[in-house]
Amino acid sequence: MTLDQISVRQIKGVSAPKEEELHAFGVQTVADLLDYFPYRYEDYRIRELSEVKDGEKVTVQGTIRGNGILQRYGRSKSRLTCKIEIEHMLVTAVWFNRHFLQSQLVPGREIVLTGKWEQQRLQMTISESEFPDKAGAPKSGTLQPVYSVGGGITQPWMRKTVGQALAQYGAMIEEVLPHSLVEQHGLMSRRDAVLHIHQPGDVREGQEARRRMVYEELFLFQLKLQAYRSLNRKRGDGIAHKVNGETIRLFAQTLPFELTDGQKKVVNEIMSDMRQPAAMNRLLQGDVGSGKTVVAAIALYCTVKAGHQGALMVPTEILADQHLRSLQKLFADAGIEVGLLTGSMTERRRRDVLAGLQMGMIDIIVGTHALIQDGVFFRSLGLVVTDEQHRFGVNQRSVLRRKGLNPDVLTMTATPIPRTLAITAFGDMDVSTIRERPHGRKPIKTYWVKHGMMDRVLGFIRKEVDEGRQAYVICPLIEESDKLDVQNAIDVFVQMQQAFPDLKVGLLHGRLTASDKDEVMSSFSENETQLLIATTVVEVGVDVPNATLMIIMDSERFGLSQLHQLRGRVGRGEHQSHCILVADPKSETGRERMKVMTETDDGFEVARRDLELRGPGDFFGTKQSGLPEFRVADMAADFETLELARDDAAELCAKEEFWTESAYARVRAYLQKDQIFQGEQLD
Ligand code: ADP
Ligand code: MG
Repeated sequence: MTLDQISVRQIKGVSAPKEEELHAFGVQTVADLLDYFPYRYEDYRIRELSEVKDGEKVTVQGTIRGNGILQRYGRSKSRLTCKIEIEHMLVTAVWFNRHFLQSQLVPGREIVLTGKWEQQRLQMTISESEFPDKAGAPKSGTLQPVYSVGGGITQPWMRKTVGQALAQYGAMIEEVLPHSLVEQHGLMSRRDAVLHIHQPGDVREGQEARRRMVYEELFLFQLKLQAYRSLNRKRGDGIAHKVNGETIRLFAQTLPFELTDGQKKVVNEIMSDMRQPAAMNRLLQGDVGSGKTVVAAIALYCTVKAGHQGALMVPTEILADQHLRSLQKLFADAGIEVGLLTGSMTERRRRDVLAGLQMGMIDIIVGTHALIQDGVFFRSLGLVVTDEQHRFGVNQRSVLRRKGLNPDVLTMTATPIPRTLAITAFGDMDVSTIRERPHGRKPIKTYWVKHGMMDRVLGFIRKEVDEGRQAYVICPLIEESDKLDVQNAIDVFVQMQQAFPDLKVGLLHGRLTASDKDEVMSSFSENETQLLIATTVVEVGVDVPNATLMIIMDSERFGLSQLHQLRGRVGRGEHQSHCILVADPKSETGRERMKVMTETDDGFEVARRDLELRGPGDFFGTKQSGLPEFRVADMAADFETLELARDDAAELCAKEEFWTESAYARVRAYLQKDQIFQGEQLD
């Protein structure tokens, strides 16, 4: 029996109803309970009153020097006072609604008091008190754990029950970390750490216990990623694409521009992965406008040339349409068939596309997430590229692989990810980065103006349009409702039509049908409309190089990365581009965001400042983050441990002994429990 096989019911004092309550906290087994760590400690260590500041909460010991005086109010309310000698001072202790203590307050008896110290009046308001001469005065002099509790589970009950579990089962707690690592980092054994995290003798012990558990948590997390990665390499059951460099060079020559050095470098990295028999799992990060799409196109071209099919997965239909058009243009002379699969297609067209994929008539398919789900079959899927915002986690890739598809995967993101976050969120991937933008790009000039200056903004639009350029006006979500969001955009649309009766103004928002969106978008990219009023539906990926002016209304309502993404819709051609932030921010961070935007147009710098302003937990929207929730570790505070754990895990997985020797059997058993490793040969 191991602790994760023993129900909490076996712990003395846990009744059936309490067991139910514990389930609500995700605690089923003894192991779960022992791993239910306190989030802080209550300090009952006895201190010298002379060192305590006025108003502080403190625990002190003293001698009773008088009788308890009781005043009652109404039926249940009371106030009990008593003189206590503490360090030669006579202090008045005050209890509320503890009338039953009166008889125990005997002059000469020792007492431990916890409460708030009021220096002026030499008085303490007591929250808890104990008599050291009475058996079971457990709190005096200790740090007491504080758990997250609720419902029928109270703090004292939780403390008692965890204490009981430790007494009954503490000896069965087993080490999970390899002995060598425990030794190397001077970590507590798991058993000691669990004991001391719940019941630390002193602050240092509590910290050491925590250090050990943080390392364990980060290490096991990294181990999963690194083990998956290394098994993938060893297995080598991906597709070894056979393409020669000459084919790629010839294709690159048909592009309307020369690749930047950064693009060439990442194309080489991708090619070398694709030629390997192990499935590629690579992240391509590059600032907005750095030219990731063409890199994806080259990779897709390769898979087709090697006799396979490629899929390009994007988050929105607008983007799917755009990519479809640009790939069709790129591959027009190459005899490559590009198809589209989205949710809004008619059933008939969908059936045609699915048949085309299965028979291999479609070489490249562009679409939304539905692409790689049930009911979609490929003749031979060689490469999946995902653009912006979503990626496959280890779990999804292991599902893909077990479905019999083990394609190469290239994930593209325009959100530059700070290194430490990258380790966590993308620790299982290889990373390529494009640092520069294409030659001849001018930095986007960014201004921040108040609403009162709209006239000048309108003048700016006029000037750009007169020079043949185009502009976006972005309207934010005003309320947490789609409807008002759209209404706001419609209002601005009407205003703009009145301000520019001679121009064609387009309106784009999430509530339009797919074909309407498509129409609005294509007339903007053909320069039939000069001014596009839009909600954030254009946030990612949209590419209209002739648009040079981005106006963001109420821009204090957007986060920094989002503002940067929106700004990235301009500055995509040879012309000087501008971004105007219209905002009257009330908050300090709002003003700070406007400042950052006007100071830099480098995505890495924006990301860094964003991280500073928001903290890492908040960096990604929670949904798309892919960040795991750690129980003990703190992304901000435990960066160094994270890097250490990653290096240790990678090093361990690279060792042959790790996969064979019995010294590592327990860690391997830990991995084996995870679904993604089931069916894998771990030893
Ligand atoms: P992102 O990295 O934001 O996805 P895109 O791939 O959409 O950027 O590229 C932005 C624009 O730059 C597109 O219009 C694209 O055609 C153009 N572009 C890409 N690479 C180059 C290059 N090497 N030289 C000139 N223009 C390029
Ligand atoms: Mg893009």
